[in-house]
Amino acid sequence: MPSGGFDEEALKKHLEAGRIAAKVRDEAVSRIRPGAGLLDICEWVERRIVELGGKPAFPCNISVDSVAAHYTPPPGDETLVPEGSVVKLDVGVQVDGYIADTAVTVSFNPDHDALLEAAREALEAALSVIRPGAKFRDVGRVVEETITRFGFKPIKNLSGHSLGRYLIHAGESIPNTGEPLRFGTFKPGHAYAIEPFATNGAGYVRDSREYYIYAVVKIRAKGLRSFEARLLSEAYSRFRTLPFTARWLLDLGEGKDVVAGLERLVKRRVVHAYPVLVEAAGGLVSQFEHTVFITEDDVVVTTRSTKL
Ligand code: MN
Ligand code: MN
Repeated sequence: MPSGGFDEEALKKHLEAGRIAAKVRDEAVSRIRPGAGLLDICEWVERRIVELGGKPAFPCNISVDSVAAHYTPPPGDETLVPEGSVVKLDVGVQVDGYIADTAVTVSFNPDHDALLEAAREALEAALSVIRPGAKFRDVGRVVEETITRFGFKPIKNLSGHSLGRYLIHAGESIPNTGEPLRFGTFKPGHAYAIEPFATNGAGYVRDSREYYIYAVVKIRAKGLRSFEARLLSEAYSRFRTLPFTARWLLDLGEGKDVVAGLERLVKRRVVHAYPVLVEAAGGLVSQFEHTVFITEDDVVVTTRSTKL
C-alpha cells in the first residue's frame, strides 16, 4: 500500500465515493425495466447517493439505444424505458470533490447480449493491463481488440479520462482504440475513469441538438436579468464547475422557466451545455465503466461491486 508523501486522504475519499457509486449502480439495475420512467430512475439514483453519504458528481445519465451518453431527464420528462431496448446508466459520486464514475448497460432483448458482453469484456481487458506506468494506448489497443473480436466497433470519439478534484475530465483521455499517436501513462496518486463503448453502428458519435446537462464556466456576466443572475450564482454555489441539471434548480422557479433561463446563460457562454451524444449511424450502444486509483505499486478499482 502507499506510504511516504502519498495522499492517503485522497485514496480514502476515492474509495468511499467508489463504494457508494457501486452500490447505487447495482441497486438501480433492478429498477431499469420496460415501462419504468427515466425520471423516476434518475431521481432515485440521485437521492440514494445522498442517503449513502455522497453527492452526485454529475446528473444521473440514462441513455437509451443509439443515445451513447449525456442524456439526463429534464424536469417533467415522461419518457419510459422502451421494450427491447439497450439502456446505459452512468452514475457519478463525489466525496469532498473526489469522484467515482461508473456505468452499466442492461438490455431487454437477448439479441443484444453480445453487444453488452463486448463492452463488459473490453473493460475487464483494459483493467487487466492497467498498472503504475502503463501506457494509455495499451488500454485502447485491448479495448479495440476485444470489441472487434465480438464483431462490433468501439466508439472512437468517446474515451476514458483522468479525474481531478471537482473535475470530471482532468485533461487526459484514455482511448478506446489502438491509435499509435496517443501518449500518456497511468501515474501513482491519480484516478482515471475507464469506459469502453461498443456499437453495431458507425463507431463514432455526433452531437445532437438537445442538451440537458450544464456546467458553469464563468461566475459573472454583465447585463443578466435578475432571474438568470440568480440561477448562475445558485448553480455556482451549489455545483461549482461540476455538471448539473435543471432538475436541481427547481426551487428557484418552474421547470420551463429554469430551462429557458439556463438556455439564455448558454447563449451568453457563461454556462456550458453538454449535447446529447448519439451514434452517427443510429447503431445501438453499450458501455461499461469503472474508476481506478493508481497507488505506488498497485491499482485499486474503486467502483467494484461489493455484494457478498
Ligand atoms: Mn461515466
Ligand atoms: Mn466517465
